[in-house]
Amino acid sequence: MVAPALTEIKIPQHLIPLDGRFGSGPSKIRAEQIDAVVRASRNILGTSHRQAPVKNLVGSVLTQLRQLFQLPSDWEVVVGNGGASLFWDAATFGLIKNRSSHLVFGEFSSKFAQAAQLAPHLGDPIVIESAPGTVPTIQQADSDLNIDTYCLTHNETSTGASMQLSRPALPTDALVVVDGTSAAGGIAWSPTDVDVYYFSPQKGFASEGGTWIALCSPRAVDRINKIKSDGRWCPPSLDLSIARENSRANQTYNTPSVSTFVMLNEQLGWMLDNGGLSWCTERTQQSADILYGWATSRAYTEPFIANPQHRSPVVGTIDFVGIDAAQVATVLRNNGIVDTEPYRKLGRNQLRVSMFPAVEPSDVQLLTASIDYIVEQLS
Ligand SMILES: *Cc1c(COP(=O)(O)O)cnc(C)c1O
Repeated sequence: MVAPALTEIKIPQHLIPLDGRFGSGPSKIRAEQIDAVVRASRNILGTSHRQAPVKNLVGSVLTQLRQLFQLPSDWEVVVGNGGASLFWDAATFGLIKNRSSHLVFGEFSSKFAQAAQLAPHLGDPIVIESAPGTVPTIQQADSDLNIDTYCLTHNETSTGASMQLSRPALPTDALVVVDGTSAAGGIAWSPTDVDVYYFSPQKGFASEGGTWIALCSPRAVDRINKIKSDGRWCPPSLDLSIARENSRANQTYNTPSVSTFVMLNEQLGWMLDNGGLSWCTERTQQSADILYGWATSRAYTEPFIANPQHRSPVVGTIDFVGIDAAQVATVLRNNGIVDTEPYRKLGRNQLRVSMFPAVEPSDVQLLTASIDYIVEQLS
């Protein structure tokens, strides 16, 4: 049999997910969030972010984040514009005192390490790296290295590897700063292990990019204040002490994307109404069990992450054997199932599937059925 042209492969309707968005950021936005944007169009969108309607919206987001993560009452939620990438730069000014240690196991974790490396006012960071698809071990730095900030990544979105967070015992005043951009809302963690947990809302929170959110322990707030009072120069838009002051007033330093806050507020309400973070993590785990269970049971697929404990429940990476994954992604796209392509720089014969809380586990099931159908047609 001659394999059909890719454009000719039509997946039967009953195998197609109800929602075909499987991107790892921007990710699927639920229809109810768009309804909320339409509702907000009458009285919130297009109005001043310095007046009560928008300030109340921002306040609601901050309160719901506290509830979702069950933050201790002395933690602060700080928000600003620019997304997680901007937060890296802000952290080189406002969180790292002299020298940081980074666990690097993919593109995103390596970018923060680079930002610290390039900052002329910081000492060279310590970088502990492991191959893509693996997770480095969290280790305490030797005391003569004078590390003051440990930088971890909860979920490496570029590879689909996630790590269990823990706090190195020494130095006792070191901060643990965690990139939770794709993990937030889909993987559990404990505030006792962390000082700063930061993320952008276009991944696990099904909203749009351009905003960063940082959950900060009192120790982190002390560090921000100490660096500020020591007089280090910082551009105002990157100044975490300015961001913190604004956040305490339910505002941002400069104009935020109000529609992003509307979508985020709605998604947080949905997560909390359904049972909070434990409901979300059960749901992402359910999707992950479906995806990895399928991938291990087929001759032509296997999970990229060899160690099952490091397989992300929110971003699944599946290697293909003897089948061109790019062709599979193309056929999926032709049938309205989008953004399953792997992270561009990883360069593997792979599909990447997001399983954030907004994604229905039943749609992950249908996605696997669609892929089986495509492979049958291609082989
Ligand atoms: C997407 C992502 C970022 C970058 O987020 P932006 O909002 O695009 O700046 C950083 N870290 C991780 C782990 C990510 O997944």
